[in-house]
Amino acid sequence: MDEFDVIVVGGGSGGSAVAGRLSEDPKLRVCVLEAGGANADWRITTPGMMAAVPKASNWGFETVPQSGLAGRRGYQPRGRGLGGSSAINAMLYIRGNRWDYDNWAALGCPGWSYDDVLPFFRASEENEDGADAFHGVGGPLSVVGQRHVNPASRAFVVAAEQLQIPANADFNGSRQEGVGLYQVTQRGGERWSAARGYLDPARGRANLDVRTGVTVERIVIEDGRATGVAVRGRGGVRTIRARGAVVLAGGAFGTPQTRMLSGIGPAAHLREHGIAVALDRPAVGSDLQDHPDYVSTFASPRGDLFGRSLGGYWRTLKAIVEHRRHRTGPMSTPYAEAGGFWRVDRDAPAPDIQWHFVPAILEDHGRVAVKGHGFSAHVCVLRPESRGTLRLADGDPATPPLIDPAFLQDPRDMAVQREGVRLTQRICTSPAFAPWHPVDRTPVDYRDDDALDALIRSRADTVYHPVGTCRMGADAAAVCDPRLRVNGVAGLHVADASVMPRLVSGNTNAPTIMIGERCARFVAEDLRA
Ligand SMILES: Cc1cc2nc3c(=O)[nH]c(=O)nc-3n(C[C@H](O)[C@H](O)[C@H](O)COP(=O)(O)OP(=O)(O)OC[C@H]3O[C@@H](n4cnc5c(N)ncnc54)[C@H](O)[C@@H]3O)c2cc1C
Repeated sequence: MDEFDVIVVGGGSGGSAVAGRLSEDPKLRVCVLEAGGANADWRITTPGMMAAVPKASNWGFETVPQSGLAGRRGYQPRGRGLGGSSAINAMLYIRGNRWDYDNWAALGCPGWSYDDVLPFFRASEENEDGADAFHGVGGPLSVVGQRHVNPASRAFVVAAEQLQIPANADFNGSRQEGVGLYQVTQRGGERWSAARGYLDPARGRANLDVRTGVTVERIVIEDGRATGVAVRGRGGVRTIRARGAVVLAGGAFGTPQTRMLSGIGPAAHLREHGIAVALDRPAVGSDLQDHPDYVSTFASPRGDLFGRSLGGYWRTLKAIVEHRRHRTGPMSTPYAEAGGFWRVDRDAPAPDIQWHFVPAILEDHGRVAVKGHGFSAHVCVLRPESRGTLRLADGDPATPPLIDPAFLQDPRDMAVQREGVRLTQRICTSPAFAPWHPVDRTPVDYRDDDALDALIRSRADTVYHPVGTCRMGADAAAVCDPRLRVNGVAGLHVADASVMPRLVSGNTNAPTIMIGERCARFVAEDLRA
């Protein structure tokens, strides 16, 4: 009989953390079911190969046409395989702002204030700079400074300082605001995904079973309790049973999709697709939030920037060889080497924009090959007001879901985006960049709101942080309670980015791992009770 105490659906950031921690108790039999593969490919472990990850490691979703993006479909990469999105992400180690978590608590999530979550961030961390009030050592997630930084990335920091934006050596310390170089989730020059941190060291445990190539199609619910999952794998469809708990960790798209396929979601929508309604939960798949992002790109004659030219190809080849031999050099780059946080609305409670500076020309997520060299500066809206949805296209688990982040639909988001782009332009054309002779690749009259808005709508897209589709809260409509238990189904929990009631002011990997750490604690306590 295929039976476990806990089944974790999805081996991504949240799933790896929850399974790694739960399996520390030898009395608990834990199983991770991951649709993708092992993600051991060198294009996954080499940071600079991010632009060329194997197709099988990325779900590569698209959004529905976005009215806020001039009717375009957005691109939504999502990791597939162990590590999930942490196996294909940019590795930046950012937690968000103290205010984000205090706001979660104020919104009805007791136990999620900054002071409540800080110990879990610290417990997850192995920071090479050592432990202090904000940072931890001895945890599974390796956090380090960058091994190789392009001079243009350093120029970005100097340029911002020339505009009175202060330098910040630790965005996860006492102050988030300012500019600097990001810390990254790497070890020994390689990507350190959540699976490498939490699952690899646990592989020897007899009580942990990690299965790849297994897609969970639905949760088995008997008498109001999750008792297992129906899976599709190499042997066809079958059931794996859970004595204690099922933890959903399929991510902001996968988790609501699995729930809806299991009959938990907005009743009318489920009936539309011929799915028997087990529980009418309108909030499942609602409240989708993601960071809209605009990338300013500049051409430059400097060949030491990443780029497509004969010299550029040669340098990349040399860099790959160096990285294969020593795990050093330009191929250890997270590409988004520099960046930072700032308020364009000085009354905002926390930074409302974030920069990611990339020493390469980045068009359409790197999917468009641009000849020559240059640099790019992303600027995203950190706390969007727009709310979108995740819905089923049909009742077939293999069909990609309908993703509607509603980018830039709320005028308040556009106001922040517009000012963010203006400030980014000032930084990238300031004296610190003079040696790069930057040429704006998409010139417009930046003082003209209408012209700038049209440019933004024609080019903006995600910076890869969808959350909120199974939000937690203490209210009756919330999908999960603040102990990450699904309301209305016993023995069912969620441990991924979908539970965030509000998008944090920063990247979402470390916050999701923190959620996984917390979920493990909650599940273990519930099983003991
Ligand atoms: C290109 C990119 C760059 C990013 N850069 C950064 C960054 O630099 N820093 C940062 O902090 N964040 C970054 N992020 C975001 C961050 O990585 C994610 O927010 C985080 O990894 C989400 O974790 P999760 O556990 O919610 O989902 P995921 O990590 O995506 O895990 C979900 C897992 O569940 C599996 N799954 C889904 N459905 C099923 C099913 N039915 N059956 C079995 N398995 C299933 C998936 O294959 C996947 O492995 C980036 C994301 C992307 C895509």
